[in-house]
Formats: sequence, structure tokens, C-alpha cells
Amino acid sequence: MGPLGPVQDGVRRIVLTLPSYAFITMLLVACTGMGYVAPWQSKLVIGYNAVGIAVFYTLVRSGMSARLAQDPSLAFQRVLFNASMVTLAYALIPMARGLALQWLCLTILFDMRRLSKAQIRLAAASAYAMLVATVLLILEFAPSSIDMGTEFVNVAMASLTLCVLLAVTQIGQGVNQHRKQQQLELERTVTQLNALSIRDGLTKLFNRRHFQTLLDEEVRRSHRCHRPFCVAILDIDFFKRVNDQHGHAIGDVVLREVSRLAQGAVGPTHALARWGGEEFLLLMPETPLPAAMETLEAVRRAVGEHDWGQHAEGLSVTLSGGACLHAGDLNVTHTLERADRALYQAKRGGRDQVMAASA
Ligand code: GH3
Ligand code: MG
Ligand code: MG
Repeated sequence: MGPLGPVQDGVRRIVLTLPSYAFITMLLVACTGMGYVAPWQSKLVIGYNAVGIAVFYTLVRSGMSARLAQDPSLAFQRVLFNASMVTLAYALIPMARGLALQWLCLTILFDMRRLSKAQIRLAAASAYAMLVATVLLILEFAPSSIDMGTEFVNVAMASLTLCVLLAVTQIGQGVNQHRKQQQLELERTVTQLNALSIRDGLTKLFNRRHFQTLLDEEVRRSHRCHRPFCVAILDIDFFKRVNDQHGHAIGDVVLREVSRLAQGAVGPTHALARWGGEEFLLLMPETPLPAAMETLEAVRRAVGEHDWGQHAEGLSVTLSGGACLHAGDLNVTHTLERADRALYQAKRGGRDQVMAASA
């Protein structure tokens, strides 16, 4: 299952809270039925809850929250709403006062991962302020309904609980951030490994395996769209002599330089790979043979005209190539064999030249 869109995610978040709201509603109805809570008090709290949920649901479901707010699930706004709901219950229903704190903490915990540190601090401070203001209002207007000792303990516990909650949240977010960082690094490493796995270590050209994949894809595409393509084999002339006369290290430099020059000459639309040793393969999608031969000639010239003397005294490097057109539903191995035969002819013809496979 793919990740949810912002609207579905927001709706899911609200739907997840419904069972607890339903539980509170049932609890209030039961307490009212048993005569512990006055009907108008429970009606007010239940009504306030229902209206709040309906408003949030509409905002999220209509996509309005996704357009207006940074967090489409409106986590911060919902936490504030819950804090106001708790305060209302606190003010109206004395017997619920002991539970207010638990509910407050649960609502903040539920959305903790969606809130920024600043939002959590603000939510906790608002909840605390609402609670203290409510106690003060009760003291002012209905002092008989309040037991000072209990209220003092309630407010003191609220301070402690909210502080602990803040600390837990900060730690939780730190761990979260660390995990996200690790996940990001892992993804980066996998991307790097993937990039490396298709390249030849020395020349950084595509390796043989990846070339085979590209070739298979091109064969399928060419067959489907009736668009022929060309393949070519390039081979450095007398490379063994380079190694023998200048050493293996210079041989490696030559391989790297030839790769760089060839890549520059073929451009980004063609795929160049190291086939093995001092041989290279070139895949030219949707390219007719004359255009392929021009590309091959450009590679030959780039290598032949390079100032090889800068790498080792007396060094000179040339290469030969053979190209073949692949059309219809021929076997691509056969096309490669014909390109190889064209290369052989170029070698026999004196090297430092490119040849097309005869039709
Ligand atoms: P030709 O013109 O007929 O292609 O002659 P050549 O000497 O280029 O061909 P040959 O197949 O006789 O020699 C290829 C040489 O390439 C032999 C091998 O030591 C060398 N070689 C293969 N891989 C590497 C490599 O990774 N680094 C170096 N330095 N040399 C390599
Ligand atoms: Mg060679
Ligand atoms: Mg060779």
C-alpha cells in the first residue's frame, strides 16, 4: 500500500480519535443516567465535542485544511480544541476534574509526532493556562463547588505532568530525528551503491552487465516501435605494447583517458560501456548506420588527436571500431558478431579506422 495523500491521512487521523470521543460520550450519558452529572452539563460537553469534530472533519475532508494549513491533519488545532474541551468539562463537571489531566496528556501524546517542538510547548502552555484560569474562575464565581486542597493538588500535578510530557516529547522527537537521519543516509548509500553497481571501476563507464540490460531493453523497444539502432565495438590498437613499453599504470591512464574522450565524443544519448580489457561497446538508439559511423569516426579522431605525450614520453594511442545496424527481429548476438567482424576488418585494414558491417 502506498503512502496516504494529505486528505486521506488527515481523515484517518480524525477517524482514529472517534472511538475515544464515543467512549467519553457514553461515559457522560451513563453518569447522567445515574444522576452524577446534570443533563445540561453532559449535553453541553457532548455537543461541544460533536461540533468540534464535525468542523475538523469538514475542514480536512473538503481539502480546505490541505490548502490553508501546513499540517493538513490540523494536529495542533485539534490539540488546542481538546484542551478547551477538557477545560469545559473541568469547569462543568466536578467529578471529571481528576481525569482532565489524563485526557489532556493523551491528546498531546496522540499527535506528538506531528507537532513541532514550539507547537508542543505552546499547546502545553495553553492547556495549563486554561486549567489555571478555570480554577480561578471557579474560585471567583462558584467557590462552594470547589475543594481547595484537591484543586491545589490538581494544578500542581498538571504542572508536573505537562513538564514530564514536554521532556518525553523532546526526547521522542530527538530519537525520531536521529532515525530519519539514519534512514536518509541509508537511502543515500543505496543510491550510491546502485550507481556504482552499473559502472566499471577503472573507467567509470557502464559495465558489461549494465550494457547487456540496456541492450536488451533497446532490442525490445526497437522491435516494438520498428526503430532500428546501431551497436559498435571499439578496441584500442596495440594496447599490449602500451603496457609493455610504458608500464601497466600508464596503460590504466590510457584506458581512463580513452573512456573520457570517447564519452565526450558520443554524447549523452548513446550508451558507452567497457566490455572488458581495452574493448568498448557503444549502443546508439534510433540511429541509422551513416550517423553511427560519424559518431564512431568522431571517437576515433578524438582519441587519435589527443596529446598523449603529456602522459608518457613517446606515447601515442589510436583505436579501431566496427559498427552494425540492428533491425527487424534478428538475434542481437548476431549483430554484435557482425560488428566484431567489422572491427576485425578495420584492424586488418591497418588499424586507426572504423568500419561498417557489410549488409
Ligand atoms: P590489437 O590492436 O590487435 O587490439 O592489439 P592489442 O595489443 O590491443 O590486443 P591484445 O588483446 O593482444 O592485448 C590487450 C591487452 O590489454 C592485454 C592486457 O594486458 C591489456 N589489458 C586488459 N585489461 C587491462 C587493464 O585493466 N589495464 C591495463 N593496463 N591493461 C589491460
Ligand atoms: Mg586492442
Ligand atoms: Mg582486444
